[in-house]
Amino acid sequence: MLDTRELGRRPGSQRQVSRTVPAPADLGIEVLQVPEGSPVELDLRLEAVMEGVLVTGTAQASLAGECARCLESITDEIEVDLQELYVYEDHALPGEGDEVSVLQDDLIDLEPLLRDAVVLALPFQPLCMDDCPGLCPECGARLADDPDHAHDAAVDPRWAALAELTEAHQTGQTEQN
Ligand SMILES: [Zn+2]
Ligand SMILES: [Zn+2]
Repeated sequence: MLDTRELGRRPGSQRQVSRTVPAPADLGIEVLQVPEGSPVELDLRLEAVMEGVLVTGTAQASLAGECARCLESITDEIEVDLQELYVYEDHALPGEGDEVSVLQDDLIDLEPLLRDAVVLALPFQPLCMDDCPGLCPECGARLADDPDHAHDAAVDPRWAALAELTEAHQTGQTEQN
């Protein structure tokens, strides 16, 4: 919550706000999140305009999650741009509260803005590296750790299919006998 009372309502008046807040729960997406309680650094400029308070700035936080392909844990940093106009309560039209952000009791709730910005900035599928080869479909080993990983059974899929056919054929013959 940001208090805007010190800013006043005179259009054009400005205030810089720098503060560190603990991250709320579930900030991010399921596979990549800002750990709950970890510091989120806010660097904001509050500017009074005719209809409310314009907030612009950045938020910096750390990220933790896992690679979408190999499940290796990932840590990263994120910096997102924030921009939102918070309309004065007495300037907001009735029913408008759903579409615009409204200042309540001169306070700004930054959490929805922060959530939207962080989620938008995150990759849909976080990877430990750009070309993560993922896991071996045979044994689940992490292929990035062992690029030459192979199994004796791993043969050209065309041969594998042929081998299956031959096997089925042989089984069929055995049953006939
Ligand atoms: Zn990976
Ligand atoms: Zn394997």
